[in-house]
Amino acid sequence: MALTLGALILAGLAPASVAAASPDFPAKDSRFHNFPEMVAEIHAAEAAYPELVDVFSIGQSHQGREIWAAKISDNVAVDENEPEILFDSLHHAREHMTVEQTLYLLRVLTVDYATDPQVKALVDGREIFIIFAVNPDGFEYDLSATTGTHAPYRAWRKNRQPNAGSSYLGTDLNRNYGYRWGCCGGSSATKSANTYRGPTAWSAPETRAMRDFVASRVIDGRQQIKSHVTFHTNGELILWPYGYTKRNRPADMTVDDYNALVAFAKGQAGRNGYKAEQSSDLYITDGDQIDWMYGAYRIFSYTWELFPPETATVWGDHYPADEHIARQTARNRKALLFVIDVGACPYRWTGRTRTHCGPLFDDLEVNRGWVVNPDGTDTATAGAWERGNPDAISRSYQMTQMGTTTSGLAGLVTGRKVNGAASASDVDGGTTTVRSAPVVLGAGVGALQFRYYLAHQLGSSGADAFRAYVEDGTGARTLVLEELGGPEVDAAAWATARVAMTPWAGQTIRIVFEATDGDTDSLVEAGVDDVRIERP
Ligand SMILES: [Zn+2]
Repeated sequence: MALTLGALILAGLAPASVAAASPDFPAKDSRFHNFPEMVAEIHAAEAAYPELVDVFSIGQSHQGREIWAAKISDNVAVDENEPEILFDSLHHAREHMTVEQTLYLLRVLTVDYATDPQVKALVDGREIFIIFAVNPDGFEYDLSATTGTHAPYRAWRKNRQPNAGSSYLGTDLNRNYGYRWGCCGGSSATKSANTYRGPTAWSAPETRAMRDFVASRVIDGRQQIKSHVTFHTNGELILWPYGYTKRNRPADMTVDDYNALVAFAKGQAGRNGYKAEQSSDLYITDGDQIDWMYGAYRIFSYTWELFPPETATVWGDHYPADEHIARQTARNRKALLFVIDVGACPYRWTGRTRTHCGPLFDDLEVNRGWVVNPDGTDTATAGAWERGNPDAISRSYQMTQMGTTTSGLAGLVTGRKVNGAASASDVDGGTTTVRSAPVVLGAGVGALQFRYYLAHQLGSSGADAFRAYVEDGTGARTLVLEELGGPEVDAAAWATARVAMTPWAGQTIRIVFEATDGDTDSLVEAGVDDVRIERP
């Protein structure tokens, strides 16, 4: 039906019967798009710019409406190896300006493509996804009041999902995401509450659709979406994660990420006059989208609270007159294009382009596709590589497993404590191997850099080792670093390795790490963190 509607509009025919059947804005606010008008405009853009726009649904709402999305890029039908940027709107039903902001962005990226070199460069160099109304049931319900001072508006916020044992409907979709859901007093367990978080994380079909879409952008183990903005109203704010804590930088955020998240937010705010602050500076939220996007995937994720500034009434906050739409959406043009540009690698905004924006940047804080024992030929009987927070294990007063990483909470380590006991955790009986997901190298490529340690106790020998390899597209491995054991005690200490990668320029490669306990059983531990391939 939506496709037909788009075709009708392109043909200049008024789809009056369809529009009349759907809840609509009052005449004074007719410049706002209701749900069918929004759907028609998205499909009209696809019809007018088929090379640039692909419209699809990420799933259905509780009442069965489609959650519409568009991909905007050159060669839009092909999944190119380009950084991906995501925008979405209308988690909250009454926040109608957010739909206008996403439709405005769609127009900029399509209408201006032929005439604006910056827009063309960004559309050509990125894959941009827009999800237009995460909460379509609430969207329509909010326009359906027949009585009351503010009719047809209802000031509705949640989705329209029934709650067991209650006559109150709806879950706050922006409290239903699965990172630290319900942890910290930033949502409600009360079904009638506007911030009701649902009975479990992901209990709403709308958040599950978002979760599954974002998960679908993991290709070869790595999340392709680098940056994300979710539009809400109101307050003219740009919020960075986390919302669940007042701490500026809790343990689940690295120093480098904190610096880049803040600098990038301030860069955005400098372009639209909003105020940038940590999400929890507004108020504590838990189970919200940006905490999950960053916490689960390390996506640089922001909430934009759009026009108007805070008014202290729900009607003033969420129902500005439609005369404001054009100016208040266009006001964000520079900031939106800045997000698409710098969002490919926000570390750039902290001067870390060479080290942090190359073909591989892996702080090991989330799983980016490492596989243990990739060939099924490992001989180690204990102490296999795992990604995690290394335990502090010492023997004879010598640290054998570092209690720290070189960034954040996790690295690759050989066997952590088994049931809390250190005894069974070191490498035994042979070799354990871990291999990265493939990495595409350009014609110009900088060095491979990583942090590592090998620790061993008395009784070790040159048969014990830590080794690093580069594996080419044929599976052939080249040894690029080797540290052997020896009869002395060698406590764990982080060292830095640098390997020239020019021999593999233009190829698709993988990084392989090995730890070996050789001929006689001795105590061997190894660790790796912060694996990067730099720009030249
Ligand atoms: Zn909102």
